[in-house]
Amino acid sequence: MRCSECKEEAIIKIPYAHKYLCKEHFIQWFENRVERTVRKYNMLEGTRKLAIAVSGGKDSTTLLHVMTKIAEKEGIEIIGITIDLGIDMGKKYSAKSVEFAIKNYEMLGVKYRIVKLKEEYGFTIDEAKVKIRRPVCSTCGLTKRYILEKVAKEESADTLATGHNLNDVAQYVLTGYYNGDILSLARLRPVSPAENGYIKKIKPLFLSPEKEIMTYALVKGIPFIYDSCPHTFRVGGETQDKIRRTIEEMEDKIPGFMISLVTNFEEKFRPLIEDIPKETLGKCKICGMPTNKGREICSFCATRMKLTEVKVNS
Ligand code: SF4
Ligand code: ZN
Ligand code: ZN
Repeated sequence: MRCSECKEEAIIKIPYAHKYLCKEHFIQWFENRVERTVRKYNMLEGTRKLAIAVSGGKDSTTLLHVMTKIAEKEGIEIIGITIDLGIDMGKKYSAKSVEFAIKNYEMLGVKYRIVKLKEEYGFTIDEAKVKIRRPVCSTCGLTKRYILEKVAKEESADTLATGHNLNDVAQYVLTGYYNGDILSLARLRPVSPAENGYIKKIKPLFLSPEKEIMTYALVKGIPFIYDSCPHTFRVGGETQDKIRRTIEEMEDKIPGFMISLVTNFEEKFRPLIEDIPKETLGKCKICGMPTNKGREICSFCATRMKLTEVKVNS
């Protein structure tokens, strides 16, 4: 097939836009989409220093490349944050992921910080899987959110960008409806403003389908880890996996399904639940980070205490 914009050979079909695109026009298409998303939701308004969470996978490394370009245009400073989660399971998953993240930082000349969970906090995610009764991905998610927030603040960043893509967000929307979880739906936003002691969070890939991110990373020669996390099969459990697969099948049957689901949710539905009372937050007695209502110690410190079996005082 030929590109819809020129006569070059097409490398990708974009069914929901009725387009075939060559390499050059696809790169332009993809970067424009991210830039338009950033502008549409005023993601960088007031941002002086942007922290980018980079795991070494395709989404976060692509995010780093595209946001570096946008930040340069806007005169915004960037800092990459990567966490060595200590996931090994005989596959050296974390060690390899961190290597890929560093390759990208060095390729782009971006400053970065690597946080080694074992050295700095005394445990690994593999150890958490054995010692903590809840699903390993829940402990891992909690750990990542906590450390990213903390390190971004330490680095004086005012905004934190994460690589959630359109497929992720579509899955969260449907799961929120399915569970009737209005609080989670109200919190699901392309931009979460700085409030309650948290810094501003943005999702610049909010409207970028996973397939386009993968294609962009491949055609741009971005180094990223292909392997999946050895704990992946536990992400959200079987129901979540089925919801995700069903959404992707719907996208094949109704091109544009995911974008409509997410943009209609964001623009028409979420404003109606914007004003539901938010939980009030306290301050963790151990680390000073925000904690849920009625809790003196935040979930991360409580988890860390269980895992390290020592009293945490920093
Ligand atoms: Fe962490 Fe689970 Fe993701 Fe692995 S799959 S990195 S354990 S959240
Ligand atoms: Zn073209
Ligand atoms: Zn704490």
